[in-house]
Amino acid sequence: MKAAVFHSKNEPLKIEEVPVPEYKADEVLVKVAGCGLCRTDLHYLKGLPTFKKPPIILGHEISGTIAETGDNVSTFEKGDPVLIPPVFACAECFFCRTGRGTICTNQVMVGNHRDGGFAEYIAVPGSDIFKLPPEVPLVEGSIISDAISTPYHAVVNRAQIKPGDSAVVYGCGGVGLNTVQMATVAGANVIAVDIAPEKLELAKKLGAVETLNANDQEDVAKAVRKLSSGGVDVAFEVIGNPETIQNAYESTRWGGTLIVVGYTHKDITINAGRMMFREIEVKGSLGCGLQDYPKIINMVKYGKIKVKELVTHKFTLDQINDGFELLGKNEPTLIRAVAMIE
Ligand code: NAD
Repeated sequence: MKAAVFHSKNEPLKIEEVPVPEYKADEVLVKVAGCGLCRTDLHYLKGLPTFKKPPIILGHEISGTIAETGDNVSTFEKGDPVLIPPVFACAECFFCRTGRGTICTNQVMVGNHRDGGFAEYIAVPGSDIFKLPPEVPLVEGSIISDAISTPYHAVVNRAQIKPGDSAVVYGCGGVGLNTVQMATVAGANVIAVDIAPEKLELAKKLGAVETLNANDQEDVAKAVRKLSSGGVDVAFEVIGNPETIQNAYESTRWGGTLIVVGYTHKDITINAGRMMFREIEVKGSLGCGLQDYPKIINMVKYGKIKVKELVTHKFTLDQINDGFELLGKNEPTLIRAVAMIE
């Protein structure tokens, strides 16, 4: 089969012929239809180590159709459209057994611990994937896997947004815009912050009540506090930049919460006195538990959460490096790019 293989940092992916993966009795073989290009993949391309040493097939935001089923799999049939979550939890560790599967200590992420979805086929456990209803477009539906599910966990489980809450989302990219639409659906009045006017325009269409271009602000946190009468209940950082994490922290009201979704390996500086006196909470948010996927898929099925509008660019496997180049250049018209696997 054809696959885009990562060999070495700062080098383009190589399009190669590799064997079709073998599937075990509890697994299914999925013919990949779509696989999203995430900034996390870009982090790997630039040197963040993957757990499986290269060569590795990246790609963790996958949809497709069932090609074969293992002997022990009875829930799927050939041709079923399916969504593959990016992370499989072990269901046995302390965190899985206490309902915190997103921080499972034995978790396996496709396109990181093992080969992923920038390929024609992938073998995955039949117990960890979800059928997609016909109302969900198959290729664009791939972004539910991460770009939509990560915001669900951040908004619903970590922030526990309630109707009427005020929120700010720093970074309106593939994950951030979905944080805007998810927090809006959950009932929050959302301020969207970015540096690209095109993204702020889309944030408005997805429900943001106010937008701020950070480049136009001397003190963006102050501008957020002014718009929200003293600060927001919840600030989401969805970029992965120490400076914007600090800005997000300083955007919260007394008793507010900062949710860090963006990834950075760097340290952050936040004022401890502000945290203590104002009882500000700081929380990380990682991925999304499997138990939430059926609800998220239904939100897309019934049109509460949009996917087609978010997929602005599509690339074939042969063109995948062009997609990563655009993502790396922060092309402002690119919200989520998806590799279409023929
Ligand atoms: P993206 O590149 O699509 O979006 C980033 C956005 O931030 C862009 O719209 C960009 O214009 C904006 N931006 C950049 N600098 C800014 C600044 N100074 N002020 C305001 N806006 C600014 O990236 P993405 O795919 O949406 O991923 C966002 C982050 O989330 C990444 O760090 C990624 O690794 C991380 N991520 C985390 C999880 C998780 O489970 N926590 C899951 C997926 C992705």
